[in-house]
Amino acid sequence: MNNKISIAAITVGMFAAGSAFAQNTEIATWSGFRKAAASFTFDDGAPSHVSDGGPLFDKYGYKATFNVVVNWNPDWSGFGNMAKNGHEIASHSNTHGQNMSGEEASSKKSIEGKIQQKYGVITVAYPNCNVPNKSAVLQNYVVGRICNGSWQSQPDMMSKDGPSDWAMASAIMTGSTGTNDFKGNMQKAVQQSGWISFLTHGFEGKNNGSATYSPTPIGSIEDGLKWAQQNDKDIWVAPMGHVAMYIKERKASKIEASSSGGTITVKLTHNIKDNVSDYDYPLSIRVKYDGSKAEVKQGDAKLESKIDGGYVYFDAVPNAGDIVISGESAGPAPESSSSAEPPASSSSEVAASSSSAKAESSSSATALPKQTFEDRHPIAYVDNNGYITVQNAQGMNITVFNSLGNVVRSTKGLGLVQKVYTGAKGMYVVKIGNKAKVVNIK
Ligand SMILES: [Zn+2]
Repeated sequence: MNNKISIAAITVGMFAAGSAFAQNTEIATWSGFRKAAASFTFDDGAPSHVSDGGPLFDKYGYKATFNVVVNWNPDWSGFGNMAKNGHEIASHSNTHGQNMSGEEASSKKSIEGKIQQKYGVITVAYPNCNVPNKSAVLQNYVVGRICNGSWQSQPDMMSKDGPSDWAMASAIMTGSTGTNDFKGNMQKAVQQSGWISFLTHGFEGKNNGSATYSPTPIGSIEDGLKWAQQNDKDIWVAPMGHVAMYIKERKASKIEASSSGGTITVKLTHNIKDNVSDYDYPLSIRVKYDGSKAEVKQGDAKLESKIDGGYVYFDAVPNAGDIVISGESAGPAPESSSSAEPPASSSSEVAASSSSAKAESSSSATALPKQTFEDRHPIAYVDNNGYITVQNAQGMNITVFNSLGNVVRSTKGLGLVQKVYTGAKGMYVVKIGNKAKVVNIK
């Protein structure tokens, strides 16, 4: 990061056009400029969702949506831990009656009283696929979910603009009375630049509690997640509420860039903030850029960025202040570590001290008291195929943060060598145990 860039190199040419900056900026259709989105939703708050579903998604670093029934006494502590880990806990009514009308607001409030989430309870899935009071849904939630769209005169696959009615988002049924072709449906979404959502109840052979309808072999979900991980550049796997926020923000946001004194200022704003949400999920942005180095800041936050093909790419939150892009010639050249301040206390090489290793092992491996981690030296790097890869991290917590300090993957060390993430080019922070390293997907 010691290379300095001449401001002239940035400003000459591209900003001569003066006012026509709008065409030089773009909000990605899907996060990370991927080609499609996929959401996995789970109904009925089954014990197996906590014991098997959450851990499966954590293994691949993906997040899902779990719709719980308030009066069915779900494992609040288990689902609460999943929420802390980035999964979405959403409403599936209080009573699971034939139609949940009258429980739109109260079920949301009850779940929010039990479980803390960054965006609150913003998704509802209707019991028995029956749409309740639509205006009550839209006053309390970003999105309301039916079952297969085609069962209710909607498409099964949603477009890049989401459902035509935000109280009727589709999710296709999986399991014995649905499909188990997760991969094929995601491939179709990639071909159509669309949004596919899945609706799963319990898993074959697991403790499903009341979620007995249409059990799904968990191995078929795992096959889907493996495919998603191999195709992470194309498919954005994220909870239903987060994808819904992204689409609404993208459609409502105005982006404008202007240039002055060698810096580009980008304004990313919308006015859809309401009682349900601030709509502050980060949007993926690119801005035409001639330089070879850039520093991107929004307010006090330094955003991760990458330069590729004549653009600078970054994720930014709408309405969170001006985004300022500058060459790195102003002031002292920062260490690469300073660009990822929220998650990482330092960018030193990952090297587990015995104390950190013990902290890790005590949380996860009390059953393995003889195993010592003293001579472990976990490392993180980007392999030739663009995967953030870790070694020697078995049993340790691994977390990958993006430019905003948001977790893009969290998982446990499995094998000796483990691919944990690939995605948009740029800087990421990989935390293994309590040590962190900055890596760069090129
Ligand atoms: Zn249900």
